[in-house]
Amino acid sequence: MSSGSRFTPKIIGIICNWCCYGGADLCGVSRFQYPPHIRLIRVMCSARADLRHVFEAFLNGADGMFVGGCHLDDCHYITHGNYEALSMVRLAEGLLEHVGVNPKRLRLEWVSAGEGIRFANIMNEFSAEIETLGPLGKGEGIAGDELRARLEKVARLIPYIKLAKREQLALHLRDNPAGYDELYPREEVARLLREAPTYEIDPAQCQGCMICARRCPVEAIAGEKKTPHVIDQEVCIKCGTCLAVCPPRFGAVRQIVASPA
Ligand code: SF4
Ligand code: SF4
Repeated sequence: MSSGSRFTPKIIGIICNWCCYGGADLCGVSRFQYPPHIRLIRVMCSARADLRHVFEAFLNGADGMFVGGCHLDDCHYITHGNYEALSMVRLAEGLLEHVGVNPKRLRLEWVSAGEGIRFANIMNEFSAEIETLGPLGKGEGIAGDELRARLEKVARLIPYIKLAKREQLALHLRDNPAGYDELYPREEVARLLREAPTYEIDPAQCQGCMICARRCPVEAIAGEKKTPHVIDQEVCIKCGTCLAVCPPRFGAVRQIVASPA
């Protein structure tokens, strides 16, 4: 905890094993200094960083989040997962902006294993930027409960968002990395969230076969065998699995898409 009224931000970093972590390691052995309040999590590829991690970090009190990977086209896997990390981060920025969180609280950088000093510089700069922005919520002028409700609402929709944006999230714009900046315009993000579908079970059609209840990943479907099942809308994450698995001869699950405002 810092002395006086100086704000010490909580910052989480997800960094890839092969490049950014190497840069962090070199930074350490070279004794370059960076703030101790940045907590780093090593993953095998920056593509492992997920929308869910971003929202969980902010819901759990982080003021900033960093994602670090290999420079584009230097990914150690043939999958070139850092393009997917780039797409994910651009989408996450749009979602954060939608709920009123400054997207600068999320930062993506490419750092090679030989760039220890660059790693230190980025960490120092990012930490200073978050300090300037202030604590999450306070910096935005949003009350804690309100911000939590907004973040939780979007976090619950992440399976649907990933499904709806799966093609963009898997894009590899190797000839035009700047194209990711245009991928998720503000109005498109708003439309995506506004039109999130609702899934309902028609009690007249449901045969109580229990297939959907067994396959629902969050146990949002209740019901006994041979009795109509019901979806708890507060628990449902809108993944669409129940619609996909309900036998066509029953056709009991309906997808209701909110009409555009
Ligand atoms: S859409 Fe269906 S399967 Fe998916 S979480 Fe909701 S109730 Fe469960
Ligand atoms: S899979 Fe379809 S018929 Fe079977 S319990 Fe679910 S909604 Fe009812």
